[in-house]
Amino acid sequence: MFRRSCRAYCVTEPGAGSDVAAIKTKAEKKGNEYVINGQKMWITNGGKANWFFLLARSDPNPKTPARKAFTGFIVEADTPGIHIGRKELNMGQRCSDTRGIVFEDVRVPKENVLIDEGAGFRIAMEVFDKTRTPVAAASTGLAQRALDEATKYALERKTFGKPLVEHQAISFLLAEMAMKVELARLSYQRAAWETDCGRRNTYYASIAKAFAGDIANQVASDAVQIFGGSGFNTEYPVEKLMRDAKIFQIYEGTAQIQRLIIAREHIGKYNN
Ligand SMILES: Cc1cc2nc3c(=O)[nH]c(=O)nc-3n(C[C@H](O)[C@H](O)[C@H](O)COP(=O)(O)OP(=O)(O)OC[C@H]3O[C@@H](n4cnc5c(N)ncnc54)[C@H](O)[C@@H]3O)c2cc1C
Repeated sequence: MFRRSCRAYCVTEPGAGSDVAAIKTKAEKKGNEYVINGQKMWITNGGKANWFFLLARSDPNPKTPARKAFTGFIVEADTPGIHIGRKELNMGQRCSDTRGIVFEDVRVPKENVLIDEGAGFRIAMEVFDKTRTPVAAASTGLAQRALDEATKYALERKTFGKPLVEHQAISFLLAEMAMKVELARLSYQRAAWETDCGRRNTYYASIAKAFAGDIANQVASDAVQIFGGSGFNTEYPVEKLMRDAKIFQIYEGTAQIQRLIIAREHIGKYNN
């Protein structure tokens, strides 16, 4: 029988988001299995997934470097000891199921270790090279929708006897929004192309994620402005787009963390 496969990526904890190496969830090897204890937070698909990627500290020695101290596990969602929290009430993207998850003496067979014990941090970081590009694509899609809605509205709405688009301030604002959307699109396509070519794309994925996330917020806010008072109202789509846009500057690594990565990658090219 076909079994729907839905996964969740369990890394963030109440005390550790940007600083992944600070996570406290621990995995202790006991015979042929690992016993996992800890708490994860903000897990997308937390209540829908039938399996989790889970990052836990497998080496308790605080002096062990992050690249060796963590292990990645595949954990079946129906394993005893997993407690799924309530669906969080977020500002935007409210259809997305985001939850806290507690792992209490969860026993995972050693066969469910990904690659090897100690390889988890590298796996968790390399995942971002693949996931930041689609997040940038989603950000661009949101910005495109905001531009479409604002343009249609500006063609219909009249002030001072003419449509909004005939006021230069509005047409130039639409032009700025269009420039941003087109460049955001190119940024994620460049990052995706690097992946297609089999090259490490950390630099381009972070540029696309940071840039398109910022553009989504700027363009959604400008769309609300073009709608005037109606833009602030739930009867029109742009207020939702503005709320939905914000998370693109937070998850999959915040806007600030992307700049840290871009700076590191950029400066690294000159230091070699
Ligand atoms: C709706 C939603 C869905 C999510 N889905 C998932 C998921 O599926 N799986 C998962 O593991 N996580 C998920 N997350 C967690 C998300 O990745 C984190 O919220 C994010 O990485 C930021 O971590 P934090 O919230 O702990 O903020 P913090 O790390 O506490 O950061 C707070 C602020 O400080 C800034 N900051 C932190 N460190 C630095 C620094 N060194 N330099 C400059 N600025 C800094 C940050 O940019 C941010 O502005 C989700 C979050 C949300 C809200």
